[in-house]
Amino acid sequence: MQPTDQRDRWPSGQGLWSDVPKSDWDDWHWQLRNRLTSLRDLEARMTLTPEERAGCLFAPGKLALAITPHFFNLVDRDDPDCPVRRQVIPRIEESVVSPGETPDPVGEDGDMPVPGIVHRYPDRVLFLVTDRCAAYCRYCTRSRLVSNARQYDFHPELEAGLAYIAAHPEIRDVLLSGGDPLLLSDAKLDHLLGRLRAIPHLEVVRIGSRIPVFLPQRITPELADIFRRHGPVWLNIHTNHPRECTAELAAACERLALAGVPLGNQSVLLRGVNDDPAVMRSLVHRLLMMRVRPYYLYACDLIEGSGHLRVPVERGLEIIRSLRGHTTGFAVPQFVVDAPGGGGKVPLNPAYAEGVRDGWLELRNYEGGRYRYPAGEGQEATTPIPRNLA
Ligand SMILES: *Cc1c(COP(=O)(O)O)cnc(C)c1O
Ligand code: SF4
Repeated sequence: MQPTDQRDRWPSGQGLWSDVPKSDWDDWHWQLRNRLTSLRDLEARMTLTPEERAGCLFAPGKLALAITPHFFNLVDRDDPDCPVRRQVIPRIEESVVSPGETPDPVGEDGDMPVPGIVHRYPDRVLFLVTDRCAAYCRYCTRSRLVSNARQYDFHPELEAGLAYIAAHPEIRDVLLSGGDPLLLSDAKLDHLLGRLRAIPHLEVVRIGSRIPVFLPQRITPELADIFRRHGPVWLNIHTNHPRECTAELAAACERLALAGVPLGNQSVLLRGVNDDPAVMRSLVHRLLMMRVRPYYLYACDLIEGSGHLRVPVERGLEIIRSLRGHTTGFAVPQFVVDAPGGGGKVPLNPAYAEGVRDGWLELRNYEGGRYRYPAGEGQEATTPIPRNLA
């Protein structure tokens, strides 16, 4: 089957905005101008639950409400438990701060030598270049600064950030994030990438962006050409549920990939969204069909008011166990916890090695079968190894 035929069966099109001229719909500025940003906007299009209604009234003081028309079309308006809906429509549970939750759950502010640069790992930095996004995820790790709902007044200082990177020859990798870097204009991105490319010790330039998912119209041929000219530029998108894999996202990924942009995906493990092996399997399969390699699956950070979206880490391990060996090896993301307080990303893996006994490493394969392998250095296998000890 041709990939294009596959895509035709994926959700797409103007949906609730079918009366809008296609030239408007396809214009990313139109999509931004027509975002749903208030209780009134939402109630004009759907019936909210009481929890959502109260959530929309609470949200403006925490993290702005904004949903692009493209993404709003993916919401099932008849299903209060819709996995897309839970990601972008506020709920009153956001006002409940559970023990351990903080405004800066992964301790970024403590690792900021200049505003916008998080230098935590020796050879790479996170560079926050804006505090705005096309739409806002209710569980955003950077809710404290993104959308400026809390008067955090984050002003990314691009010149100071560039100067910091240029002055630190140990930095070989920069990850542009925010907010969403692809909200910057073409001219600004072109300039920024050019400046980064001129830093001789910088080997890797990468971007984290949910814009291909929220606003695929932004991925214009002109933007793809900017990435091609400054390439290699790596890009991680952010999808959580297979329904986000629309024909428009697939087309955007194709434009990026054909411009030489290697694509990855990051997901956040969220209750009622993707805390289910079948949902994650469907998601990673769709990602591969769009040339996107699953990269990380994050345990949800201890962001204030996210208790209703978190699940036990065991659930994440169960999902990884359900994928590893059962499907394409490169469809399996790395499950990580970003350690509270600034420890960085810690990989969590199901235990396939169960320990060493009598010089043998005892192994479990994906089906639960038991095997062993000599554990010591240069150890001879003097006795025949039973292939399967089960
Ligand atoms: C996630 C992150 C990076 C990139 O980490 P990788 O594991 O290399 O993808 C770099 N800096 C900070 C502060 C991060 O949070
Ligand atoms: S797109 Fe990223 S930065 Fe923006 S709200 Fe979502 S998680 Fe936060």
